[in-house]
Amino acid sequence: KGRLDSALTKEDTEILLESLKSFGILNNDYSYEASLDTAEYRGYPENGAPGGGLYNAAPEPSEPIALEDLLKSRFWEKMRNHTTYRHHAPMFQPVGGMEEIAHAFAREVDDTITYNAKVDRIRQTESGVEVEYSSADGEGSGGVETADYCICTIPFTVLSQLDVDVSGDMRRVMRALHYHEAVKAGLEMKRRFWERDEQIYGGITLTDLPIAEISYPSAEMHSDGPGVLLGCYAYGPHAYAFNSMSPEERLETVLEQGARIHPQYRDEFSSGVVLSWHRVPWMLGCYSDWDDRGRDYEIAATMDNRFVCAGEHISYLPGWQEGSLLSALDAVRQVHDRAVKEG
Ligand SMILES: Cc1cc2nc3c(=O)[nH]c(=O)nc-3n(C[C@H](O)[C@H](O)[C@H](O)COP(=O)(O)OP(=O)(O)OC[C@H]3O[C@@H](n4cnc5c(N)ncnc54)[C@H](O)[C@@H]3O)c2cc1C
Repeated sequence: KGRLDSALTKEDTEILLESLKSFGILNNDYSYEASLDTAEYRGYPENGAPGGGLYNAAPEPSEPIALEDLLKSRFWEKMRNHTTYRHHAPMFQPVGGMEEIAHAFAREVDDTITYNAKVDRIRQTESGVEVEYSSADGEGSGGVETADYCICTIPFTVLSQLDVDVSGDMRRVMRALHYHEAVKAGLEMKRRFWERDEQIYGGITLTDLPIAEISYPSAEMHSDGPGVLLGCYAYGPHAYAFNSMSPEERLETVLEQGARIHPQYRDEFSSGVVLSWHRVPWMLGCYSDWDDRGRDYEIAATMDNRFVCAGEHISYLPGWQEGSLLSALDAVRQVHDRAVKEG
């Protein structure tokens, strides 16, 4: 609109316009039109991709989606998720799934872990901490552990409902912290139809349905199958709607919505599960959501008498294993400093 001059030198203006043409694939009139240039970035029409020889070989331009439609689709809302500091382009996947990281830690310290122990109560005295637990599955026996200090990694959603000796401030913060909601579905399909029929190899289909997205496996491509799709990764109000359904209703909803995108769903589905983290009694939420940390974060992260919290919620990287590990290191540092001070 001729206003670039006010913020930029003449030379900068020329460079900026050149960059818009180059990066935005704009033509000499600075508009984005159907052309072989734009098709090279946005894709070609069916049967119009560059080929070889004579027959059907010359590429054809494709018709861009109208700006208004692009804006209204709100596609851009989802795109920005994958461009943050926390989503680097090369992301690693542990062989066998995320849980393998926890299993690897467990292998190293297995003889120090008491499994099937549901903590019910934590008592603090001047000289130590007492943790009472019962059997999580109702079959084993309960017990009491005593120690000089306690590092507690139970999520605040659960901890705030237990009988725990902590300061009034700490209790208030535990109760106040909100946890994000999330729902995910794993769908086992007999055949990798997305690869065989539609040439989709990995990646995500973003939708405006409550399931939010369908994510395709990035391992074992071209194998005969079966294959597992992530059939839903719902957040926000849609996740609450899933939370309120029975497991069977959740699965049926995911299949019905997914079949609108891939009609093969019904024939190829063999089994599946839809997990809602607000319904998992050991988590009661997906990950912590510090809206305004203010002084509350410091209260949550600071040792309270002989008790100190650790976990993803005690970090600036909530919802990531990295956050929980870094907070654990800091909790150990606090216990160490205190123990050294006490001699
Ligand atoms: C859907 C989803 C996707 C994710 N994707 C990724 C990812 O791709 N990459 C990544 O790095 N991170 C991811 N995360 C986050 C990662 O899983 C967490 O940040 C991490 O597991 C947090 O570790 P934590 O030790 O703080 O808590 P948790 O792993 O939740 O551990 C808390 C433990 O406390 C136990 N517990 C609860 N109540 C009691 C009780 N009363 N008595 C005894 N024990 C109890 C629980 O059973 C649990 O084992 C994801 C999380 C979710 C939910």
